[in-house]
Amino acid sequence: IFSNCPRTTLYRQSALARLLSSLAVLEQRDGQLNHASLSAVTAAQKIGGSITGIVAGSSIKPVAEAAAKVKGIEKIIMVDNAAYDKGLPENYAPLLAANIKKEGFTHVFAGHSAFGKNMMPRVAALLDVQQISDIIEIQSEDTFVRPIYAGNAILTVQSSDNIKLVTVRGTAFAAAEAEGGSAEVVEGVDPKVEITTEWVSEDLAQSDRPELASAKRVVSGGRGLKSKEQFDQIIPPLADALGAAIGASRAAVDSGFADNSLQVGQTGKNVAPELYLCAGISGAIQHLAGMKDSKVIAAINKDADAPIFQVADVGLVGDLFEKVPELTEKLKAQ
Ligand code: FAD
Repeated sequence: IFSNCPRTTLYRQSALARLLSSLAVLEQRDGQLNHASLSAVTAAQKIGGSITGIVAGSSIKPVAEAAAKVKGIEKIIMVDNAAYDKGLPENYAPLLAANIKKEGFTHVFAGHSAFGKNMMPRVAALLDVQQISDIIEIQSEDTFVRPIYAGNAILTVQSSDNIKLVTVRGTAFAAAEAEGGSAEVVEGVDPKVEITTEWVSEDLAQSDRPELASAKRVVSGGRGLKSKEQFDQIIPPLADALGAAIGASRAAVDSGFADNSLQVGQTGKNVAPELYLCAGISGAIQHLAGMKDSKVIAAINKDADAPIFQVADVGLVGDLFEKVPELTEKLKAQ
């Protein structure tokens, strides 16, 4: 068929025929698969072709078996080594690079989480390709859409790299279904890189509330709360009445009203719940960048001109110290 084709055409034909194959980087913590990282699988599904997942850490088999059940994954690469338990990018990046080179993936997807943001640029450097960050849409196998300038502009990026290394915004790609698949589990390459970085300890905020990034409802408080005592007095009861996670603006976090892990926005978490209810938050663009994709936005602010009302579906102009407890009581009475 190709006997009359010039060589360059032949190369192009064979390049086009090359099968698409994606690697989804799956996060685990203490032997539990992090379901938020399954948005990487959903992104890979949009590309088409085969999908492989990778998990690494000590006693990794149960995690690999859980990952094998994720719908849409054909193969799980597991690497059993305690060195990968805490996801240190210094050794995780060479691990990924070695397995990507061995299997010849065309695409690699990871969540745009702290782990993904920390590790993927190093993988990109090791493979000498460009990383494509925080995508919200896939237009084709080489074209991706991502927000820039805190969501004020949307950039369409076309990549000519032979391996596309992509981090995925979790709020734009729902997590793949955790059940229904039956992938084969294989052992991956372990480069066992010697690193000079040592994991010492971590200090995790514990909470019985829904996880902020994936909660269906979020109640957030801002600088308008004026003190930590008032934040704790006003916001949690409303969150309890709604079964919601608690969020905060950066001003509230910087003022010590709320823990850093609760910050919503450009430099905090991205959330897109069914309901985002905020009180005493002005609506700075950096805050909107993290919550404006919420289905329903409700705002309470005493300033009728506050920018939050420009994005709010429901607004209440009034004193939050009066309105929030009133709303909480009404919800509790229901
Ligand atoms: P303010 O802007 O001070 O607003 C307080 C609001 O409370 C006002 O609108 C006021 O009318 C209202 N209020 C006061 N008292 C009452 C009352 N009694 N009843 C009702 N309403 C009342 N911010 C984030 O939130 N998240 C980020 O990730 C983030 N990242 C940033 C990154 C960069 C590089 C920069 C430069 C800034 C970033 N910021 C971020 C900060 C952002 O610009 C704003 O300063 C911050 O969001 C303001 O928080 P706020 O709305 O709580 O406070």
